[in-house]
Amino acid sequence: MTVRLSTLANGFRVVTHSMPAVESVSVGVWVGVGTRHEIADRIALYRERLGMDLLVVRTEVPAATPAEREHSLDTLAELTATHRETSLELDKTDGELTLSEEKKATEERRLYAGGLNARETEALMSEVEMLGRQVAEKEEATLKLMEVRDEQQAEVDAATAELDAAEASKQQLEARIAEKWDKIDADIARQELKKAEAVKPVPTELLELYEEIRPHKEGVAVARLGEGICGGCHLRLTEAEQLQASKSDPPRCIHCLRILVFQ
Ligand SMILES: [Zn+2]
Repeated sequence: MTVRLSTLANGFRVVTHSMPAVESVSVGVWVGVGTRHEIADRIALYRERLGMDLLVVRTEVPAATPAEREHSLDTLAELTATHRETSLELDKTDGELTLSEEKKATEERRLYAGGLNARETEALMSEVEMLGRQVAEKEEATLKLMEVRDEQQAEVDAATAELDAAEASKQQLEARIAEKWDKIDADIARQELKKAEAVKPVPTELLELYEEIRPHKEGVAVARLGEGICGGCHLRLTEAEQLQASKSDPPRCIHCLRILVFQ
């Protein structure tokens, strides 16, 4: 038997088979379009591909993990608490400073009002001097605390901005994923509709049988029976076996159990 496969310039594939004993010519045309079952396969493939697209999108944007976010929130809370403590301390020191200043002013007024003996004057002078040192100390402490408080405020602001940015990026990512899902859902719905249309004319039981056999037969569940030979397993069926096969519904090859289409 001489079977030759040639491909023409336009892409057509031509299979020729010479049978010297036969004085007629037989021509057959086969069109390589997808069957209704291939559509189901294509949907499965399509889903895989979309799933991968989605994974790519997910890995593209480095979103802060919930743990990282939790940590950022904790840090912000700590910073805010420290800032509040410093502010309170500052208020207290500032109050003490005012008291010391008032006390010093009062004593100074008493000192300059006169009418005191030498011993009283000396005692009051040293009191005013002591209060002066106290005021200077409190002033210094107040300035230092103000500086610290400003630094802490800047840290709180930075942490807040960072969290806001992370939140914005998270929302952006979620929007992108939602958009992608919408597209996938629409595509799947469209494919499902096509599939339903294509599958409609096939009886359910036959389709179920087909799906059951296919995985065990290298994806080929239906075979043509030509010249007594099963196109699936390439084994010959005797006349009796062909008759036996044709009696079952659907007809199935007795060797490989594929669904047979008689030619
Ligand atoms: Zn077979």
